[in-house]
Amino acid sequence: MPGRWATLKPNRSSTSLKGITVIEAPIDRDPCPACESNQLQPVKMYNNYLLLKCSECSFIYTEKRLIPADDYEDAYDAAGMYAFMVRAAQKTATGEWGVKKLWWFKRLALRWIRTIEATSLMDIGCGPGTFMLIAQRLGLTVEGIEPTRAAAETARSLDLRVHCGYVEEYVANGGDRTFDIVTCFEVLEHVPDPVGTLTCTHDLVDANGHLILSVPNVDDPYMLEQPFPQSIPPIHINFFSRKSMAAVLHKSGFVIERVFTLPIPTGTVSRVYGKTGLLIRLPYLVMLRLLGKADGSSLVVMARKNTTGSV
Ligand SMILES: [Zn+2]
Repeated sequence: MPGRWATLKPNRSSTSLKGITVIEAPIDRDPCPACESNQLQPVKMYNNYLLLKCSECSFIYTEKRLIPADDYEDAYDAAGMYAFMVRAAQKTATGEWGVKKLWWFKRLALRWIRTIEATSLMDIGCGPGTFMLIAQRLGLTVEGIEPTRAAAETARSLDLRVHCGYVEEYVANGGDRTFDIVTCFEVLEHVPDPVGTLTCTHDLVDANGHLILSVPNVDDPYMLEQPFPQSIPPIHINFFSRKSMAAVLHKSGFVIERVFTLPIPTGTVSRVYGKTGLLIRLPYLVMLRLLGKADGSSLVVMARKNTTGSV
């Protein structure tokens, strides 16, 4: 496992310093997971994890690429998020909750889906199934993939067809059906091999179908300042920008059709500094946006398969 962080200049064999030859061992780092470049620069330590940035595609990620399955569930449990997600699915199943209770990026995805001729939808990382229930209500035939057993069981108890596991396992086990829409909300920031995950996802998208995904957006200037365990390493190990998301999708055989982000990172800033803190920072954030130096805290992307053959 590469873990030599002391020397920041890769691939230098020796330098001379006042007559003393200093041997610098080349850093044995894996190339960028998004574009395979070796031009990697340390960014910062974030919750004791080193973040690297690729100079070619600007992808930012943790050098350690482990999936902490237990940590992951603990972080969401501690934040009460899992209990809320289950309650949301149950209330949606009874009809008590509807579209308005979805996160804004899921409502946006529904608006995009309504412009497409689609009859089937696969939701990767479906959790207890809230989005599937809403999509089903719109007339779509829905399936889901969810690695967390408890969440998959909750979805099944609501009469949803959910495969427990990872998309890689689903495809390897013969899940060769394709779907008009494949959704993948807030998943790619967790996976050790985003290109591998998206390449498997590619197999599930119909030739004329679309992939709709959302990820936290590192073009939000506050994205790497958050104190919340569920938003930082080791729970999030990938930090995408518009540029690096385009690189990852291209490498996985997709072409971007639409990209959307809110103009101001209201969610991140108000979570860190409160509503008053957001108001104080608003003029600064607007200025950054006008200068093209800031985005909202989530990136929502619609993509289709690249049919030109150039990947
Ligand atoms: Zn790269």
